Parts: sequence; structure tokens; C-alpha cells
Amino acid sequence: VRDDIVVSEIFGPTLQGEGPLVGLPTVFVRTGGCDFRCTWCDSMYAVDPSNRPDWENMTPGEVLDRITHLTRGFPLLVSLSGGNPALMPLGGLIERGHELGYTFALETQGTVERGWFAQLDHLILSPKGPSAGMRYERKRLQKCVEAAGGQTEMALKVVVFSEDDYQFARDLHADFGELPMYLQAGTPPIIPLAGVPEDERAEVTASDMRSVVAGNTVWLLERVKKDRWFDVHVGCQLHVMLWGAKRGV
Ligand code: SF4
Repeated sequence: VRDDIVVSEIFGPTLQGEGPLVGLPTVFVRTGGCDFRCTWCDSMYAVDPSNRPDWENMTPGEVLDRITHLTRGFPLLVSLSGGNPALMPLGGLIERGHELGYTFALETQGTVERGWFAQLDHLILSPKGPSAGMRYERKRLQKCVEAAGGQTEMALKVVVFSEDDYQFARDLHADFGELPMYLQAGTPPIIPLAGVPEDERAEVTASDMRSVVAGNTVWLLERVKKDRWFDVHVGCQLHVMLWGAKRGV
């Protein structure tokens, strides 16, 4: 019986662009499929089943071979992302990767808990605020925290597009005070600009995105200062600042 992982893409090494491990060189394994449909999702190509023809069914061994090929065997950080990677059987991959010295971080919205969360080095739980248009269920998040246990480093990350999202993050922090909180200014979905020639669009939209994200981050920092909320990390997607919405970098 194959313990297949549905993979949307594997790429790197590149920088981890967000959350507690920002700046660390990493390889990304992005799984296909998600139980959410957030309004501002930036990876619908790994969510919407219409992209299934682009996804690959791979065994843990095949995924690990790809990782070791990309890293030339150097055991760095592997970031498991999606989609919702918690939908996939990733325990075997983590176990084999650990034997070769790799470390594993997984980011999920915290709707599905898995026993193998306890094998992870890092678990980043990223519940979605009201702007995502999805339902937050505390009980499910709590189960994820319990599944990870005491050994896995955990953090909360909330993407903030609005005052409501900010208040959601405040409440979450009050509720799960033992977990470090990372606020991330929202990256708006790109809108193709009318009148800009096709071959110049990527550059124009990338610089537009940068300035919007920078503005959102400054707003968020001001908001945090106003509340004197000083045990929180404020950031944005570093990869968007560097490369815009480009994939696979
Ligand atoms: S949970 Fe993440 S991957 Fe899934 S739809 Fe929302 S933003 Fe996209």
C-alpha cells in the first residue's frame, strides 16, 4: 500500500518568507488540497481541485529524493505548506528526513490535528480571521496544540487585513497566551492593471504589491503601538517584498 502525498510543488532552497523562521534557507513542499477557501488565498493553485492535473502523487521516499536532490544532501529546514498539509500523511517523510538530519516546519490553519504533529520541529498554526470568510473553531485549534505536545516548537500566526482581523488576533493571543504570536500584514491579491503591456505587468504589479504591503505593515505596527501590545511580532511576507507574486522562488 502506498502512503501517497499529493504534491503541488517542491522548490528551493529559498528563504522562508514569513512566521517565526523568516529568513532561514528552506525547501518548500507544498501539498495539494485544502478544506478552506479563504477569500484572499495566495495559493489557489494548491487548493482548487481543478489544478489536480498539475499535482503529483508521491511516496515519502520520492519527496525526500527531490528534497535531497535540491539541497545536494545538505540537511536544512523543510517547510511543509499547502493547501492544508495536515490533510496529508506526512509522518513517514518527517521520520525519514530526520534520519538524514533535516528539520521540519509545518504551517496549517489548525482545522485538522494529526498524531505526527509531535514529530515536527516547528508547528505554525495560522487560524484565519474574519476577512478570510471562514469559520474559526477553537476546539479544533486546541486539538492541534495538544497533538503537537511539549517537544514541538509552536507559534500562532495571524494574517491581518482589517481591524476585525486584528481584534481576532488579540482574542486569540489572550486565549492561547503560552504561544508566541506573529502578526502578518495582509498581501492583497494582484489585480492585472489595465493599459499596462502584458510583458511589463509582472514588474508593475510586484512594485504595487510592495508598496501596499509596506503600507499595511506600517498600519499594523501603529495599531500594535496604540494598544501597547509589545509581546507580539509584526511582519509581512518577505518573499513578496523581494519577488512580488512570483511562484517557485
Ligand atoms: S487555509 Fe491557506 S491554503 Fe487554504 S484556502 Fe486558506 S489561505 Fe489558502
